Amino acid sequence: MHPRPESDLVRSLRAALPLDAVLAHPDERRVYDCDGQTLHRSAADVVVLPRTAEEVIATMTVASAAGAPVVPRGAGTGLSGGTLAPRGGVMIVTSRMDRILSLDPRARRAVVQPGVINARLSDAARRHGLRYAPDPSSQTACTIGGNVAENSGGPHTLRLGTTTNHVTGLAVVTSDASMIRLGECAATPTEHDDALMGLVTGSEGLFGVVTEIVVRLVPAPEAVRTFLASYASVPAAGRAVSAVLASGTLPAAMELMDQACVRAVEDFAHAGFPSNAAAVVLIELEGATEEVNADEPVMLRALRGQSPIDVRAATSDEERGRMWKGRKQAAGALGRICRGFYTHDGCVPPSRLAEALEGIGEVAARNGVRVATLAHAGDGNIHPLFLFDTLDDNELRRGAKAGREVLELCLALGGSLTGEHGVGGEKRDLLPLQYDAPTISLFRRIRAAFDPAERMNPEKVFPAAAPGGGFAGTKPARGWL
Ligand SMILES: Cc1cc2nc3c(=O)[nH]c(=O)nc-3n(C[C@H](O)[C@H](O)[C@H](O)COP(=O)(O)OP(=O)(O)OC[C@H]3O[C@@H](n4cnc5c(N)ncnc54)[C@H](O)[C@@H]3O)c2cc1C
Repeated sequence: MHPRPESDLVRSLRAALPLDAVLAHPDERRVYDCDGQTLHRSAADVVVLPRTAEEVIATMTVASAAGAPVVPRGAGTGLSGGTLAPRGGVMIVTSRMDRILSLDPRARRAVVQPGVINARLSDAARRHGLRYAPDPSSQTACTIGGNVAENSGGPHTLRLGTTTNHVTGLAVVTSDASMIRLGECAATPTEHDDALMGLVTGSEGLFGVVTEIVVRLVPAPEAVRTFLASYASVPAAGRAVSAVLASGTLPAAMELMDQACVRAVEDFAHAGFPSNAAAVVLIELEGATEEVNADEPVMLRALRGQSPIDVRAATSDEERGRMWKGRKQAAGALGRICRGFYTHDGCVPPSRLAEALEGIGEVAARNGVRVATLAHAGDGNIHPLFLFDTLDDNELRRGAKAGREVLELCLALGGSLTGEHGVGGEKRDLLPLQYDAPTISLFRRIRAAFDPAERMNPEKVFPAAAPGGGFAGTKPARGWL
């Protein structure tokens, strides 16, 4: 059989880029046809792996001349279908743009390419007594570029803020192949740069490809104390989190796991979590020793006010490390007890956490699905993981329905559709439940200022043109939609 002739788009990209930067064979492209939300798939016509910003500009020049859509991609750990290519076109994968360009401990700044893996930056900073604060649970795989696009959070962003609070400079290549330099990436930063960086951070790849990032590094805290509180009911654990926040102390992290998560983790990571409890809360205090000394009794009083089964402190760095390993690998551990899971990241005001957690149980029971719940509880950001057998379409459908019902519950409790995973393709049709038409129209006009032809990451974030249009152009992994 003769190979099919390559399209003009592929030929032009091959002419503009190094030989090994362009992948056009279907087998090579298939690797990039979904992200961490594996229920939908769609491959780009061609995948480009640039090493430099100049190669990104060259790619964007070709795509612009061809009128082709462009989808940026980091590590593909996203959980909202943000890296799918429902209209084909060019996918720009940043995994080879993985250099830490500079790290200045005195200025507490690092300049990185977008494909740098989050944990690598943290490790590099740690050698200087510093750290990069945003620490998504996926940090051993996800990229700083992806973190910027999603404004990612993590367990330790409760006190220190999400990605947007740590970005001080950005370089972005827009769909017309222009390079915008903002903040500390600009020769002369202006007072408007912060606002523009705020817009780009969290824009889910709709405004351009981020090619360089300057981040703030923070000093490692003087004192760190880690506690594990266990409760006989999930709502009691939720009330304990609300009580700690209401007490006036602000821990660095407050993470909740229900019994299903704890049991899966214990079988796998042996983190020392009590598997008889209905839920556990992992709390970390950090800061100046004096401050931590003052906060500890206030926090313990709040935890004990909700009748815990037990509250214990980690007694060594090793024990603390095991607890965090258990928390951060919880989603992976669930892979041992189910073939697949579907999760969302709806948020509720922390004061309504107990109601939301109770509601998740009711939604799961009503839909006849198994659920395991994790939460960045201090942020009110809940992750119910609906477990399903990937070979059972019926279970898949029920899990998807349950996910939507939990998001509706979050909105009813005064929360939001997404705390960190983004809207992507998956939640686009739910956007009107949170925002009214004039607000969505304003969002569209802001997008048009960056990308008038809407070629960047199409079919994402904004509702489909036709009601019920869903995630147009993508292929459900099975026939569940
Ligand atoms: C087990 C697990 C745990 C997770 N835990 C967390 C968590 O604690 N907190 C959290 O916030 N998220 C979490 N996530 C979600 C995900 O890891 C984050 O959204 C992460 O920031 C995505 O980074 P990535 O490099 O994988 O990006 P990708 O998945 O490749 O892309 C995500 C989005 O960013 C865009 N994008 C990527 N790179 C660029 C770029 N250079 N320029 C412009 N746009 C770009 C893409 O188009 C896409 O829309 C978790 C995911 C998994 C699988």
